[in-house]
Amino acid sequence: MARKPNTRAEDLPKSQATIYPEKPLCSHDGCFLESLCKVKTLYGWANLCEKHYQAHHQAQADETCKRLGLETIAQKRAWLKNHWPQMQAFDTAPAREPGDDDEPLPR
Ligand SMILES: [Zn+2]
Repeated sequence: MARKPNTRAEDLPKSQATIYPEKPLCSHDGCFLESLCKVKTLYGWANLCEKHYQAHHQAQADETCKRLGLETIAQKRAWLKNHWPQMQAFDTAPAREPGDDDEPLPR
């Protein structure tokens, strides 16, 4: 049953009068955006907006690549092929690079 516009929550049956709490703000200092999700960090749980959520995971990925000694994209792709075979389904890189065969390079 669709809710009529301008209907007060008190006038509705309890099942239709659910009021959701406001979303919390991002936990980063100076960021006042609505949080996207809650993420467990080294220091506890943090509500993160989309920008800080991506930054959090990019920092983790950079740290992991540094720990594994992976610097170039080719090294990262090779590591993924060895350790995560499912990645090949998403690998759209060409099978050969320009100049790998006798075909002349485009000018
Ligand atoms: Zn934020």
